[in-house]
Amino acid sequence: MDKNEEKMKELLYDFRRYFDQLKEDGAQWVETAHLPPSGDNKVAPSRTPEPSRTYARPEKTLQPRKPAPVQPEGKAAPVIQKPESSSSAERFRRLIETINNCRKCGLASTRNCAVPGEGGNDLRILFVGEGPGAEEDRSGRPFVGRSGQLLDKILAAVSLTRKDIFITNIVKCRPPGNRDPHSEEVIACWPYLEEQIKILHPRVIVTLGAPAAKTLLDTNSGIGRLRGRFHDYHGIPLLPTYHPAYLLRSYTLENRKKVWEDMKMVREFIEG
Ligand code: URA
Ligand code: SF4
Repeated sequence: MDKNEEKMKELLYDFRRYFDQLKEDGAQWVETAHLPPSGDNKVAPSRTPEPSRTYARPEKTLQPRKPAPVQPEGKAAPVIQKPESSSSAERFRRLIETINNCRKCGLASTRNCAVPGEGGNDLRILFVGEGPGAEEDRSGRPFVGRSGQLLDKILAAVSLTRKDIFITNIVKCRPPGNRDPHSEEVIACWPYLEEQIKILHPRVIVTLGAPAAKTLLDTNSGIGRLRGRFHDYHGIPLLPTYHPAYLLRSYTLENRKKVWEDMKMVREFIEG
């Protein structure tokens, strides 16, 4: 796929997700007068495959761990983590190495770098996004693109920094064109997040966007209905909120207020 085709596909996915979210938020119709007439569109949009929209949490029995073949092109992602003891530090280091070399699903063949996750974890707050974007795929680091910059501002608004949190994604490799991860990819990657949660032992989990909330809570409810209150993930309080990419697309006062309220709940929770 050449660069233009990839960009086009990315835009189409972005648009679809944007409209899906508007629909979920109760929009009945969308004003399109400001969009260029379709005749102006010189590039015929290629048909994009329909991604699966089920994010049910995979069964534990679906998690055979194969030894990972060495991936010569993979750059090691810088990871700052503070697991509790040296044995869990070692377990965490091995897990990161396994992820960096993983080829368990189709995303291995299109990624540049796997993005295992990083952060100081000082306050043991785990953020879970959807999947790496283009910049994350290039650098091997999570949330370094535009979404990441907005996330930093959201964190700063409640006096948090990346040092306080650990941040990772539902899938560790970039879905091409930023499409939603398919359920077989989520299933293949799930054991890594499960293991990260076991080692990092977060006090609270914050999910960003629908796929992360749906996967961890094993539900099909929309993010609009899930956000704003704590749920339970195996005894760990879990707060779903909007993904910063959604906020960037729909930067309304109402949406910013919702995210601000969610983040205040996290702040209040960790302050006990
Ligand atoms: N969006 C995500 O969900 N994760 C990232 O790491 C970057 C953007
Ligand atoms: Fe492995 Fe997850 Fe990457 Fe798939 S997305 S190749 S399961 S690390």
